[in-house]
Amino acid sequence: MKYFTISEMLKSDTALKMRIWNGATKEHEENLRALIENVLDPLREQYGHPIYVTSGYRCPKLNNLVNGAPNSQHMRGEAADITGGSPAENLKLAQMIAESGKFDQMILEEVGPNDLLPQWIHITWKRNGWNRKNILKKVIGKAGYITVDVANSFPISRKKEPAACATGSLTKIMKRILLYFFSLRLRATR
Ligand SMILES: [Zn+2]
Repeated sequence: MKYFTISEMLKSDTALKMRIWNGATKEHEENLRALIENVLDPLREQYGHPIYVTSGYRCPKLNNLVNGAPNSQHMRGEAADITGGSPAENLKLAQMIAESGKFDQMILEEVGPNDLLPQWIHITWKRNGWNRKNILKKVIGKAGYITVDVANSFPISRKKEPAACATGSLTKIMKRILLYFFSLRLRATR
């Protein structure tokens, strides 16, 4: 663990206010460590700026208080809510996560009806079991989650095209060089 700590994953203002002991079991802490080492630390390294955890582990009592889903991964230490400080920064983080392909579930929380600018990102990792790599969004004022079409949603993914064009022209150049030498050889053998 380089950038994130277990204690910041256990910290909760609500728990402090309500005098709840938000203690995790050994297994939950191992799950948090796996989330940090596999997802959060590499993301932080690539992003290059601070990332804030607004909610990490939640004991069942705390999860109830913050209206978490009844089966929330926060209660298993598999989830964190993170932000880079603004919806635009969160979109950058979401793009990086999507491109890394190393996550279980990512929810872009409270985006606008016509944008992908999340108020925060819910990100999960399973130490034991299959990491689904599914990306959902929750639109402000609407109930339920919608699957995000990654290929058509993230500008960074589309930015990869010029690189593909560049390798395309490089191949063309290589082909021309090869053809040139081939023609020289043809001439030589004639
Ligand atoms: Zn969450």
